[in-house]
This record gives sequence, C-alpha cells and structure tokens, in this order.
Amino acid sequence: MSPLEARIRALQARIHRACEAADRDPRGVELLPVSKFQDPSLIRAASLLGFQRFGENYVQSGARKAEGAPDLDFLLIGPLQRNKARLALKAFQEILTVDRVELALRLRQIAREEGLAKPIWIQLDLWGEATKAGGCSAAELPEVLAALDGDPALPLQGFMAIPPPGDAAAFAALAHLRQEYQQRLGTSLKLSMGMSGDLEAALGAGSDQVRIGTAFFGERP
Ligand SMILES: *Cc1c(COP(=O)(O)O)cnc(C)c1O
Repeated sequence: MSPLEARIRALQARIHRACEAADRDPRGVELLPVSKFQDPSLIRAASLLGFQRFGENYVQSGARKAEGAPDLDFLLIGPLQRNKARLALKAFQEILTVDRVELALRLRQIAREEGLAKPIWIQLDLWGEATKAGGCSAAELPEVLAALDGDPALPLQGFMAIPPPGDAAAFAALAHLRQEYQQRLGTSLKLSMGMSGDLEAALGAGSDQVRIGTAFFGERP
C-alpha cells in the first residue's frame, strides 16, 4: 500500500469513528482532499484511489491544475479577488468563498455573460479578525444572500468556515446559523467545516464536508 493510500485509509477510519460517535451515516459526509501546493501527479494518484473533487486555495495555480486534469473537479476554497472572478468561475466547479456583496454581484454578472452555472457557498467568519482568511459576519450574511437573490446560475450549497483552532464552540455556532437559515430560506444548506486537526469536532457538530490537506496528502511541500 502506498503512503498516500495508507493515509487515506486512516483518514476514512477517523471519519467513520467520528460519525459513529455522533450517530451519523458516514456516507453523508464528503471527504474533500485539499491539494494546494501538491503536485498534479499526487492529485492523479488520489483520483486513481477514487477521488474526483479537490480543493484548491489559489485561483491561478488551481486553474492550471484544472486545465491539466479536465476529468477532475476543482473547488476554490481560498479567497477570491474581484479581478480573478472570471477565471475562477470558468476554472472551478464550485466556489466556496463567496463572502461579500460586490463579489456576489460580480459573479452573477460573469455567470450571465459566460452562460455558466456553478454551485457556490458563502464563507462565514463569526470570529472577526482572528482568522483573517475572509468570510462574512452573521450580520453581513443577509446582504450577501440578498445580492445572490437565489440566482439559479449560482445555486447556494451552504456555508463554509475556518473557525479558529481549538474553539470548541465555533462549530456549534455555525451549526446553529445553518439551522436558522434553513428555516428562513426554506431550503437545505450544507456545512463545510473541519480540517486535518479538528474533523472529529466538526463532524460531531454536523459538518457535511471536511476539507483535508495534510492528513490526506502529507505535509505540504
Ligand atoms: C489548507 C486548507 C485546508 C486543509 O488544511 P489541513 O489542516 O492541511 O487539513 C482546509 N481548508 C482551507 C480553507 C485551507 O486553506
């Protein structure tokens, strides 16, 4: 067994245990490998082990990887600047980091111009400047939703977040907000939260997608 396969098996065992502890069906959880800084050959190796979707943080390098592997799907999980919105919308299968009105409006405009439809997620930051990785506050969320206005070209999948490490209450706060907005919008929303170090806590709180870099691919080069 390759080191990659061994890491993936260990990871899947962790996810199974966490789901068992939370009385959840592990089939309802997506393991999204995060391939930032990883060589395309490693992504290809992961695809041969059954993975089809990969998270990338940077628009340009992610777009290059997507171009080199048109049979795979790449999801943008890093911050998006307005001037890279067109490239991002074309190259990525989903964008998880929609976090402000101007970006939402820009993406809608580009989707219309290009005749594209791509699922998107709203990135939340309920912790202020602590994480500095982008995300809108709970107070800003209604404005971002209003800017998206249920546009069928950008179907909303749910909320993505990177809570501060070790903040046990953070996942519960996100789960609460998800609940609230499912009721308000009358639709189901997913939660993308949990990384290599905290996937158990995230799954315990109801995460639908864990984004895993180091525990999947090993240390980043
Ligand atoms: C890098 C990254 C991950 C994966 O982090 P690991 O700790 O290596 O699992 C997940 N989500 C985002 C947004 C990231 O930037």
